[in-house]
Amino acid sequence: MTTTTSPPVEELRIAGTVLTPATPGYDEARRVWNGAIDRRPAVIARCTTAADVVAAVEFARRNGLPIAVRGGGHSIPGLSVCDDGLVVDLSPMKGIAVDPDARTVTAGAGVVWAELDAATQEHGLAVTGGEISDTGIAGLTLGGGYGWLKRTCGLTCDNLVSAEVVTADGRVVLAGADSHPDLFWALRGGGGNFGVVTRFTYRLHDVGPMLYGGAVVHSAERAADALRFLRDLAPRVPDEVSLMAALVVAPPAPEFPAQLHGEPVVVIGAAYHGSLGDGQEALRPVREFAPPAVDLLGPIPYVALQQMVDAFTPRGLHYHVKSEWLADLPEDVVDGLVAQHLARTSPLSQILVHQMGGALARVPREATAFAYRDAPFVLSVIGAWQPAEPAGPHVAWTRRTWAAAQPASLGASYVNHLDTDDGEERVRAAYGPATYDRLVAVKTAWDPDNTFRLNQNIRPAQTSEGDPS
Ligand code: FAD
Repeated sequence: MTTTTSPPVEELRIAGTVLTPATPGYDEARRVWNGAIDRRPAVIARCTTAADVVAAVEFARRNGLPIAVRGGGHSIPGLSVCDDGLVVDLSPMKGIAVDPDARTVTAGAGVVWAELDAATQEHGLAVTGGEISDTGIAGLTLGGGYGWLKRTCGLTCDNLVSAEVVTADGRVVLAGADSHPDLFWALRGGGGNFGVVTRFTYRLHDVGPMLYGGAVVHSAERAADALRFLRDLAPRVPDEVSLMAALVVAPPAPEFPAQLHGEPVVVIGAAYHGSLGDGQEALRPVREFAPPAVDLLGPIPYVALQQMVDAFTPRGLHYHVKSEWLADLPEDVVDGLVAQHLARTSPLSQILVHQMGGALARVPREATAFAYRDAPFVLSVIGAWQPAEPAGPHVAWTRRTWAAAQPASLGASYVNHLDTDDGEERVRAAYGPATYDRLVAVKTAWDPDNTFRLNQNIRPAQTSEGDPS
């Protein structure tokens, strides 16, 4: 049931702030990373404690309001904001406590990667984080989480030690290996389906603070060769090496020579998790593949590596994203992606191919809810355009580019990269039948009414109200 009258917000008492359409700051608070998402919640509960979250969830349930849960607000389809419902906004929950002796960090659900990386790097430690530093730790961890450290340290979710969770029935529980292990399993890949996570504790690793890494840039004539190079080098490098290729348009930034500004280019990104000397040696092939137009490889602080590509996906542009796990990069896929690069409808769009494998692939598939551990590559097509432009041509380009990679598809996408046009079947496919069935069982146990449904939804087997959607 969804109410259409104004909810009695005076009954919602939290230590944080309650915003309604009449409150100053409401418009700023309802905005998310993807500027194409323009939703107007009835209430935004800016929570500061788990008790606030309990109160907000109970208030929403009592008043029949759909609940959106917001960590960093980076959900591509804008799942962290809703029309006419209640947003549990966790962004004020910024506490970070590093325990260098135990090599763990506990962080509030509103923390973003720039903040967590800065805190852990003070001790020369880190956990695998995403490649864009203002992404929330919350949504990224719950979907799996890959970044530069994935091949040595595993996925972000592989390093989760425990999570504090507010459940649909208003309890606060700690999920870990020895405490609610079914819930703990599901939280590592199953998204926000099972409750609101208010705190994450991660295992940390020695990282940097300086690593060897960066990028080389070539003009677009080398784009096909660069993708072949990535394909052929990836299986031969040690786990310490992490590679990716980006087909982008060079921005008018000082790192790029003037003749490349506004031109399509191919970027090979690389990082080495280990000593600078070993990194220089291991990444030599990247530098020597062909003389680059720009060579940005060298010693780099880990926190800078983590922010290296931030400028390519600013908040507020309009976005449409398609992604796919790839078994390989065969010639027809290479040719198709390069043709799409040159036929792009927007200079802001990107085609990204990331190498996977290494430590993340050695975690048994059944250990967590994250499914596609054996994919050697993942494709992300990020269609991006200015707000004033019509979406149609850019969405169509994004879809055509994704379609060009279908010959190498493993049949599914990373769940955190599903967009508005990916339906229930794509959510099922992202997990595969065995993992999906297990997720349904956990969902049914912890959220039988599908209270938490504004996510890549796993429906409970049965609900007290019938169809939960
Ligand atoms: P939000 O929009 O706040 O939330 C995303 C989803 O998680 C929503 O369904 C929300 O309800 C749910 N959720 C959020 N917080 C909680 C919580 N505390 N408890 C329960 N549910 C919650 N992924 C990678 O793995 N690696 C990358 O390198 C990477 N790069 C990206 C780059 C860009 C530009 C973008 C847009 C995305 C990228 N992603 C990457 C995908 C990213 O993992 C997801 O977008 C992720 O969901 C973002 O988390 P968030 O907390 O910022 O998002």
